Amino acid sequence: MSKKNILDFSYEELMAYMTEELDVKKFRVDQIVDWIYDKHVFEFQEMSNLSKDFRDFMDEKFFVGIPEPIDIKTSKIDKTTKFLWELRDGNTVESVALFYPKRVSACISTQVGCALKCAFCATGASGFTRDLTPGEIIAQVLAMEKIKNIRINNIVYMGMGEPLLNYENTIKSVKMLNDKRLKNLGGRHITISTSGIVPRIEELAEIPIEIRLSVSLHAPTNIQRDKIMPINHKYPVEELIQACKNYQKITNKRVTFEYTAIKGFNDSEDDARNLAALISDLKVMVNVIPVNDNPAGFEKPSKRFLDTFARILINKGIDVTIRAEKGSDIEAACGQLKKRFIEKQ
Ligand code: SF4
Repeated sequence: MSKKNILDFSYEELMAYMTEELDVKKFRVDQIVDWIYDKHVFEFQEMSNLSKDFRDFMDEKFFVGIPEPIDIKTSKIDKTTKFLWELRDGNTVESVALFYPKRVSACISTQVGCALKCAFCATGASGFTRDLTPGEIIAQVLAMEKIKNIRINNIVYMGMGEPLLNYENTIKSVKMLNDKRLKNLGGRHITISTSGIVPRIEELAEIPIEIRLSVSLHAPTNIQRDKIMPINHKYPVEELIQACKNYQKITNKRVTFEYTAIKGFNDSEDDARNLAALISDLKVMVNVIPVNDNPAGFEKPSKRFLDTFARILINKGIDVTIRAEKGSDIEAACGQLKKRFIEKQ
C-alpha cells in the first residue's frame, strides 16, 4: 500500500483513520499532530517522544509532504521572501512571506499553473498543470514557518492558481488552518482571493468560517475586463457584482476589490467614476495596485493619475488604499518567480 501524505488528513480524519484502522492510541495521534503543526518537525524519526518501533511504523504508513525549497529570494528593501518549491512529482509552485511590524503574512498557491490566462500574470501565461491537494496547500505555510523560524498569522490565497477552481481542496485547507488543534488561525486572518468564479462566491458565503473575500476586479466595464481577464466572458462584471452582493447579504462582511492599475487602460477619471458607480451598493475596500512587470508589457500609471483615481473613489465614500507591491526588487508578484526560474533553465 502506498504511503499517505499525513498533511492531507483533517484532524478528525487522521484521528479516525489512525485509531480505528491502524489501532493507534489517541494520545499518540495528538503527539504527532503537535510535532508537525507546533514544533515543525517533519521527520517521524526525529519525534523523540515516540518509540523507535512506532516511528518506523509511521514511516511505513505516512510521509509529511513538505516541499523542497529550490529557490529562496529575500528583498533587501522590506524582507519580503519568495519561495519556489518543488513538489514530490517535480512540479513547482511558489509562496511569499511578507513582513509587517506586527504580523507575518503569507501568500500561498492552490494550483500548479493556472488556466485563466489573465493578461498581466506570468502564471496564467504558463498554463494549468494540476490542482494542489489540501496538504500541499498547507505545507507551504509550515515550510515557510520552519525555514524562516516565524509564525505566520495571516494567510492570503493569492499565489499561483484560482482557489475557487480547486474549491474542495481549498476549503479543506482553510478549515485545517483554522482548526484549533492544527494551525489555529482565526478566519479573519484568512483571505481567499478570486478572479470571479461567480457560483463559488455564493457557496463561499455558506462555509462555517468567517474568512475574508477578495475579488480581482481590475476593470469597471466588460469591454475592458474582457481584454485582460478571459474569465469575464464566462462571468461578466454585472454577474460578479451581483454575486458579491449575495455574499454580503449572507455574511455581512466587507468585500475587498483588487484593482491593478494599468497606464492608459483603466486609470482615467472616467474609469474611477465607473468603478464607484459599479460598487456603490456594496460595503467594500478597493486596493489599487500599480501593475508590475508582466507578460503583456503593461505600464504603471503615474503617481498623479493614481492619486486622482483614488480621490474620486474617496469622494464617493469608498475606502481605498494604493498598495505599493512589496518585494519589488525580487519580483514577488503572482507567478513571477516561476517564470524567471523557467527562463533561467
Ligand atoms: S492572476 Fe490569478 S487567476 Fe489570473 S492567471 Fe494569474 S494565477 Fe490565474
